[in-house]
Amino acid sequence: MKQKNKNKNFKPDLDMYQAMGLSPEVISYGENILEELKERFAAIDRVAEYNQLKVLKAMQEAKVSEACLSGTTGYGYNDLGRDTLEEVYAKIFGTQDALVRPQITCGTHALALALMSNLRPGDELLSPVGKPYDTLEEVIGIRPSKGSLAEYGITYRQVDLLKDGSFDYEGIRQAVNGRTRLVTIQRSKGYQTRPTLSVSAIGELISFLKDLKPDLICMVDNCYGEFVETMEPSQVGADMVVGSLIKNPGGGLAPTGGYIAGTKECVENAACRLTSPGLAKEVGASLGMMNAFYQGLFLAPTVTAGALKGAVFAANVYERLGFAVIPDGREERHDIIQAVTFGTPEGVVAFCKGIQAAAPVDSFVTPEPWDMPGYDSKVIMAAGAFVSGSSIELSADGPIKPPYAVYFQGGLTWYHAKYGILKSLQQLVEERVVSLSDFVENF
Ligand SMILES: *Cc1c(COP(=O)(O)O)cnc(C)c1O
Repeated sequence: MKQKNKNKNFKPDLDMYQAMGLSPEVISYGENILEELKERFAAIDRVAEYNQLKVLKAMQEAKVSEACLSGTTGYGYNDLGRDTLEEVYAKIFGTQDALVRPQITCGTHALALALMSNLRPGDELLSPVGKPYDTLEEVIGIRPSKGSLAEYGITYRQVDLLKDGSFDYEGIRQAVNGRTRLVTIQRSKGYQTRPTLSVSAIGELISFLKDLKPDLICMVDNCYGEFVETMEPSQVGADMVVGSLIKNPGGGLAPTGGYIAGTKECVENAACRLTSPGLAKEVGASLGMMNAFYQGLFLAPTVTAGALKGAVFAANVYERLGFAVIPDGREERHDIIQAVTFGTPEGVVAFCKGIQAAAPVDSFVTPEPWDMPGYDSKVIMAAGAFVSGSSIELSADGPIKPPYAVYFQGGLTWYHAKYGILKSLQQLVEERVVSLSDFVENF
């Protein structure tokens, strides 16, 4: 779909962008695309506005006070900030209770905790949406690992999605048996090519599962999905939603942490496992984290909206240049991840160099493909983040193997995401991986 510059007189902050290393043709190409995204962006803003009010309402109802912002040390008995924050999370997710702790080290830990605490030897775990996120393979024991569910006599079954991305209801019906205790549903596609699930699709799946077996525990891996829609999976029947605070709900400010929001029973099981039987939620000092957890949560709806706009913009920028993008430029979004397939190692490397060069931290560093533990090919990563490894901040990574795709996500502000994407395009142009001459005139 070739398109000529429609508005030749348009002058975005040309001088500033040029001072930041963008050529006039790159700026113009980007602005032409943005012209067509106004409605999409307005819809994203409306979701953010709703979610902002949802967060605010929860904070007011839970009576968040100045005293909540300072933390405890030692055992952390009667930690007002921690207990109130967990109440706020429960209100936002529409659950009976929540566990939100700096002692939950990452998303994988939160998911492992939810699984290990709610399953018992002899139980079976079912994933009705295909292979779960890579790091869960060792948690479950799909790849043998110390301390996996398999070691404790918990078996695993998986039903793949059908070719068109829909649920294999017949396969699921056959997979559910007397031992099936917990179902794990991953909302985001993660680094796969299947579609991300909408909250309403997750709701339909859960209704089907509960009709088959009413006492099934339905858990949703909510990573990258929080605040993308106005509803969360826990509002359509999920017994637990689980995620990382260095993704969407930490709003970029949480320096570490994870959450599990769900039924009283599920959360209590998780708390007994995180701390100890008998101690459960009563201990766990919040240290100095509370201010960042509250303020990050408060900002999370707008931060997520910025990241979403970046993902939509990137899809359109690269789709028009002829690259395969998932999701495509027009699809409705259910998470903040954008995949772009460049088809060549040069494309992947140039893209990541551009993202790195756009970072507020370590912008002067050149990312290189390296042999990362756990991967079967070299991987290149771009991140210049305030919080190490944070993927709500602008970041990209790509394995150096066919089909040579990069996965791009985050951006604490839309303007940073926009600049990062244009900077990646600039890099691709300079390395002659793409040419814009067919798309813009007069430069
Ligand atoms: C990021 C992610 C995880 C794991 O989280 P980490 O914080 O990287 O351990 C699990 N599932 C999905 C879908 C994710 O996106």
